[in-house]
Amino acid sequence: MSGDAPRRLVLLGHPVGHSLSARFQNAALDAAGIAIRYEALDVVPDDLPRVLEELRAQRAAGNVTVPHKEAVAAGCARLSATARRTGAVNTFRTATDGTLDGHNTDVAGFQAMADSLGVVREGARVVCLGAGGAAAAVCAAVEAWPRVSVRLLARTSARALSLAARFGFHVSATVLPAEALADATVIVNATPAGLADDDHPVALSVIPRDACVMDLVYRPGETAWVRAARTRGHRAADGREMLLHQGAAAFEIWFGIQPDLRVMRAALEHALGT
Ligand code: NAP
Repeated sequence: MSGDAPRRLVLLGHPVGHSLSARFQNAALDAAGIAIRYEALDVVPDDLPRVLEELRAQRAAGNVTVPHKEAVAAGCARLSATARRTGAVNTFRTATDGTLDGHNTDVAGFQAMADSLGVVREGARVVCLGAGGAAAAVCAAVEAWPRVSVRLLARTSARALSLAARFGFHVSATVLPAEALADATVIVNATPAGLADDDHPVALSVIPRDACVMDLVYRPGETAWVRAARTRGHRAADGREMLLHQGAAAFEIWFGIQPDLRVMRAALEHALGT
């Protein structure tokens, strides 16, 4: 483990009550014999600057979730390439000079999820539902895929257009689901639809039969959309693999060692009741 290891580990979000990160990060800390705890901090936006100052003074590190990813990126002295590309920080740590380094491990988490689902990267035609921070991580991940094309489908078209502009010719924004989905090979849900109910982010009837269905939302028993997609014959997964791998990548950034992924996965599956 590196000599300047964090002295405090937090999740910054609002709300944070739903987060499972503490469950598997604390399991990983125990397995590595690291004595600090990972704590979820519910921080309202107005309090974020003050909390970040305190965390810097405490030489803290941590994760960031909705709605603070962009604001924390603005508060970091240095950003990794993926944090710069997405404009969002989901992982930070205090550097030896007392300033903050920002990273985005959602990008690696999404890549791991795509790999575990066996998504064919070359020539993929990706449709991403949503245009927020998670969608930006999807765009940053898939832009490295050979000959990929990406369409963003979002209810607020201004957000989709702005994200599309950030990623240049790889991304085009559209609001017509049937047209956007007609030849898609990968459909990604990067909205919260299905998190608290059984809503489908888009009807499966407009999705090509051989498309992979990737739902970034995760919940006990998987989302209704993922279950229905699998029944329809699609290769489909919810966001737990992404969650796990973004967390493992964050742990490595904080401590300079790889966490025990098996222990983390078991803790996550236990928290999800599977
Ligand atoms: P965000 O920045 O708030 O963006 C959410 C996007 O979804 C926006 O485009 C928003 O549109 C749209 N949206 C919100 N509610 C919707 C609805 N009911 N129907 C259709 N579109 C809706 O959030 P985010 O950080 O991108 O996260 C999105 C979801 O991804 C989260 O709920 C989380 O479950 C999941 N996520 C998973 C992981 C993982 O590790 N598995 C990591 C990150 C995120 P408007 O602009 O119109 O509000």
